[in-house]
Amino acid sequence: MNQKRIAIIGGGPAGLAAAELLSRSGHTVTVYDAMPTFARKFLLAGKSGLNITHSEDYARFTTRFGAASARLRPALDAFTPDDIRDWAAGLGTETFVGSSGRVFPKVMKASPLLRAWLRRLEAQGTALRTRHRWTGFAEGGYVFETPEGRSIVHCDAALLALGGASWPRLGSDAAWVPRLAGRGVEIDTFQPANCGFAVGWSGNFSERFAGEPVKSVTATSEAGTFPGEFVITGSGIEGSLVYTHTAALRDRLLNHGSAVLTLDLAP
Ligand SMILES: Cc1cc2nc3c(=O)[nH]c(=O)nc-3n(C[C@H](O)[C@H](O)[C@H](O)COP(=O)(O)OP(=O)(O)OC[C@H]3O[C@@H](n4cnc5c(N)ncnc54)[C@H](O)[C@@H]3O)c2cc1C
Repeated sequence: MNQKRIAIIGGGPAGLAAAELLSRSGHTVTVYDAMPTFARKFLLAGKSGLNITHSEDYARFTTRFGAASARLRPALDAFTPDDIRDWAAGLGTETFVGSSGRVFPKVMKASPLLRAWLRRLEAQGTALRTRHRWTGFAEGGYVFETPEGRSIVHCDAALLALGGASWPRLGSDAAWVPRLAGRGVEIDTFQPANCGFAVGWSGNFSERFAGEPVKSVTATSEAGTFPGEFVITGSGIEGSLVYTHTAALRDRLLNHGSAVLTLDLAP
């Protein structure tokens, strides 16, 4: 095999997954991350119960990615929800199916999984470099700011796994966007994927119900009908069942100015 020197820039779950595959295929892989530790957003995700996949019927699962479903199908087929559960189990993290059908680590957090993952990557020969912030291109290489100063990395290939624009204090600050756009790379505008929505509650309603959970209901939008739960906030709605509908509600609002989420309180 033609062994390559590969730089993976961004040590979140996407970068680490790429590192796992590429180093297992025999390439010489180094993962660089700007932060003092890897995968901070993944760790934060674990604090509210890390949902790693869904147990629903596989054919249905593959339709859940909106406009990207067809493009993602080969990747999903190559690494199915069951493969993800096996992968986590291989790192010592057993999973269970919650009442909503979502799959979570039994320990409900991400830190043991991440620790075992990083250990296995190192054992596989992957070099892990923190406090390496990629700042651009020079001399045919990739420029990094490090505690020791500026360094230029030359490699056969680089894979950028720099994350999106949310929660910048965890590392992904989207500073790569102008850098790549300036080199002619077409980039879609960022849009929220999981967010709450503002609802015009009356003062009386929000005073009485802000903070109340709405459990064991179903909610219907153009995305379909799903069971789950969410929370009423002072200004709207928030929570996992709302996130299931985020993309559909968001697109409807953008295109039509209003959107309806229909609840069945006693399904
Ligand atoms: C509160 C919360 C809860 C969540 N819950 C879940 C959940 O239950 N299930 C789920 O699947 N997802 C969940 N997510 C989403 C999940 O965390 C993200 O989808 C995932 O982290 C994205 O992975 P990524 O590797 O693409 O990007 P990121 O995790 O953002 O990683 C990008 C990495 O690139 C590094 N980086 C950025 N710029 C540079 C640079 N210039 N140089 C070097 N390194 C750089 C960053 O430091 C970071 O480590 C949650 C997110 C949040 C905020």
